[in-house]
Amino acid sequence: MTRFVFITGGVVSSLGKGIASAALGALLQSRGWRVRLRKLDPYLNVDPGTMSPLQHGEVFVTDDGAETDLDLGHYERFTGVHATRNDNATTGRIYSEVIARERRGDYLGATVQVIPHITDAIKDAIVRDTDDVDFALIEIGGTVGDIESLPFLEAIRQLGNELGPQKTMFVHLTLVPYIPSAGELKTKPTQHSVKELQNVGIQPQMLLCRCDRPIPENERRKIASFCNVRPEAVVAALDVDTIYSVPIAYHAEGMDTEVLRHFGLDATIEPDMSDWQRICDTVRAPEGEVRIAVVGKYTNLLDSYKSLAEALAHGGIANGVKVVLDWVDSEIFEQSNPVPRLEGVHGILVPGGFGERGTEGKIAAVRFARERRVPFLGICFGMQMAVIECARNLAGLPDASSSEFGACDTPVVGLLTEWARGNEIETRAEGGDLGGTMRKGAYPALLAEGSLANRVYGTHTISERHRHRYEVNIRYREVLEGAGLRFSGLSPDGVLPEIVEYPDQPWFVGVQFHPELKSKPRAPHPLFSGFIAAAVRQARLV
Ligand code: GLN
Repeated sequence: MTRFVFITGGVVSSLGKGIASAALGALLQSRGWRVRLRKLDPYLNVDPGTMSPLQHGEVFVTDDGAETDLDLGHYERFTGVHATRNDNATTGRIYSEVIARERRGDYLGATVQVIPHITDAIKDAIVRDTDDVDFALIEIGGTVGDIESLPFLEAIRQLGNELGPQKTMFVHLTLVPYIPSAGELKTKPTQHSVKELQNVGIQPQMLLCRCDRPIPENERRKIASFCNVRPEAVVAALDVDTIYSVPIAYHAEGMDTEVLRHFGLDATIEPDMSDWQRICDTVRAPEGEVRIAVVGKYTNLLDSYKSLAEALAHGGIANGVKVVLDWVDSEIFEQSNPVPRLEGVHGILVPGGFGERGTEGKIAAVRFARERRVPFLGICFGMQMAVIECARNLAGLPDASSSEFGACDTPVVGLLTEWARGNEIETRAEGGDLGGTMRKGAYPALLAEGSLANRVYGTHTISERHRHRYEVNIRYREVLEGAGLRFSGLSPDGVLPEIVEYPDQPWFVGVQFHPELKSKPRAPHPLFSGFIAAAVRQARLV
């Protein structure tokens, strides 16, 4: 039987609803239940693929090639369950489905309306493909009271009514602020936010209260009484030192016990939280630290590199060290020498990116890493920059560039318009819609025997997630390999370079895919474990 837990948020945004949902998923999982998490986003974009990462944070890509909200990254990192395109729906996507049906004439002459047509489509999106789990955790984006989220709230209200409390539960995340001048915790914002929910017909059964200090029994009872929930169901969600301690913290507050009680399920056996405990222990007591410079463009909004920052932390967990990130805006290297800024870092990472701005600075950072033999990881755009750097400075191709920046005579990185996926040929049109022209999702790659990539992964075949329009041009393989850059990972048909490396460097790898999307605290990605291990060696050398 599938039970649905709906998670809404109130008072203010950015309370960490995604992590709260993911942690509840992990908790239920540690009690042996099968879970799936899903996010409904009220904005009008069909997916976040066309949004700037500065607006909405990173675009998280699933195996099946969907561009989704970054919260799906938290879900995967906490539960290990790989998300699919069904796990993120937006108002834009729901409306476009309904409008397409209307155009086809599927509604047989009916007036198409928000209720019931949009709400029915939302309900379909919620329940679709959830038969194989015990709990489907559905996070509603935005803050209760927003105009845009109303159809979603109406849809979950209806589902609550149709399926009944044995199969549904409403959890509301709120803020309980401490007012220093009064020396008090204030429960009023929570009360108002719950009223807002009640106005649309939803009575939450649990309140998850973000707070910077423990909530005294008195306040807890007050919240319970005013908001119509059991006192045990007022759960304090206190600030923590590492997000990976959230499942343990919620368990200590009795959250999972209360959820199971709501559904009439046994909660007497203690869950096994030892892996989370181990992770927290490592994070809290690292054996030394390494400093990694991340040279990119969107460095002023850390959410735009969310998975990357997490994956680097996982590399630290794997090696028992703390990873200190030094975010560097690559443009500064276009005016100034990178040496003073990069001197002394133990690893350099050039992440994914789009557009020409800042590229010369990234190329300068690659050159620094290569010439100083500093461990280097180039991801997607970062790999492309590493290839251009090699072409220009080692292979005697001074005009080498990417056709992303306009027509060029030496396109070592270029637009490929046709490639194979399994037995099918996929194509992309030059000048097509920006929303649909990328190579997205999981693709296999074959690794060359004995290469660093092969040793790091411990296997010859891998599958990794992509999101890019341009490819390293295989026609330049010979000249680049002649200059020392080995093409150590290729698509099975040998046409698409997936990994490059310098065999004569301590640790220098560029990958066309995004390994950070698959790294998890309980299973750090081998490339990040390997990169941080190399940084640890570097730290001991310098
Ligand atoms: N802009 C590059 C491309 O489209 C790289 C994209 C990325 O780093 N995700 O190929």
